[in-house]
Amino acid sequence: MISQADAEQYIRLTCKQYGVHIPVYFCMRLTQSKRTMGFYRFHKRNAFAPRDIRLSHETLASFPLLHHVLMHEICHYLDNKERGKMVGNGRRLNCHGPNFKKWCRKVGIVPTTFVPKNLMPTKEQSAAIRQKIS
Ligand SMILES: [Zn+2]
Repeated sequence: MISQADAEQYIRLTCKQYGVHIPVYFCMRLTQSKRTMGFYRFHKRNAFAPRDIRLSHETLASFPLLHHVLMHEICHYLDNKERGKMVGNGRRLNCHGPNFKKWCRKVGIVPTTFVPKNLMPTKEQSAAIRQKIS
């Protein structure tokens, strides 16, 4: 398990490396899906107005998991920055499309929508994290 302080240091340096100038927050589970552990948020009405990245506390289970989820969200940011428009008719446009996948390959992560099964925290790791943050 990674301490939140260590994770925050890693996040700060990684964001600096990729020119990501939005805040990154830790939250409790983000959605119903256990395999969604991060969220890239932008202002819905603007073509390009990034807001923040949210990471589930569960990403603290292991460094490879934290790295994967952070880089996945950074790829959304880079895709958004390059393509501009990410929303149309109130819906997200092709957010895991070819340009997103191109960025994943560039930064060296598997271009999946959900966290790959081999990176998922074990039950014990999840329980330890929940205990620590409660
Ligand atoms: Zn995504």
